[in-house]
Amino acid sequence: MKLLAATAITLSLFASASAQTNQAGTATGPQASGSQSIRIMRSGSQPSRQGPTENFTGSVRVDPLFQANAPARASASLVTFEPGARSAWHSHPLGQVLIVTAGMGRVQRWGDTVDEIRQGDVVWIPPGQKHWHGAAPNSSMAHIAIVEAIDGKAVEWMEKVSDAQYGTPLRVQRASIGAGTQPRPSQKAIGDFAPKLAELTDNVLYGDVWERPQLSKRDRSLVTVSALIAMNRPDQLRSHLVRARENGVTPEELIETITHLAFYAGWPNAVSAIAVAKEVFEKK
Ligand code: MN
Repeated sequence: MKLLAATAITLSLFASASAQTNQAGTATGPQASGSQSIRIMRSGSQPSRQGPTENFTGSVRVDPLFQANAPARASASLVTFEPGARSAWHSHPLGQVLIVTAGMGRVQRWGDTVDEIRQGDVVWIPPGQKHWHGAAPNSSMAHIAIVEAIDGKAVEWMEKVSDAQYGTPLRVQRASIGAGTQPRPSQKAIGDFAPKLAELTDNVLYGDVWERPQLSKRDRSLVTVSALIAMNRPDQLRSHLVRARENGVTPEELIETITHLAFYAGWPNAVSAIAVAKEVFEKK
């Protein structure tokens, strides 16, 4: 009985291929393939359901899209995760495709770094790989999940993703690395000497905090530069002025920021900062 219930959940969630009948309940065997008409499953005609708590953490809505019609074995659902919500660890015997339709989320294979996924991304989960997917901590995420079933099975559920596992730092994205495979400046500067500090700088500070959508990169540059001016940190200010330019802050705006801060952070700090800015802008 328990097994049956679990199978039913599997079917409904990642809509498995074992269904031998279509929505109307009529037989769809291969012998009928010559005379089948097109079937349209109207929007809103298939009831959504909550993702069950044994397989999900947080609030998850599952909207079935299509069941597999034998001999075809692909099926799909639209899965919507509220912020912080995620699947348990699981695997798919024939793999899975995720098409992210809204928001920002996370995906991780067991033993790998957590990757960020965004609207428009298409994710391939290879067969048999233990993994999870879900929303970002502060953003919801919706994806269409397409799976193929074998022997009536499309997913094998495992243990829940703990808060500690969920909170693991993100993989540094190529986009934030800039020039593709080139090592980050912190890796180059201190990677050999202080690998942990380089890793924290790359994965936590730039890989996670700077990537959070709650503040634009331009605004993050302005507040960072302001703090560095106020603390009189010319070394860090130098690289952050370059970054601020890349993030869309103009030299005129940065000079104005320094002038403004002369009144809040002190005249000597502003004069030191202007010297650094002059050096950086004239180099460009
Ligand atoms: Mn999956």
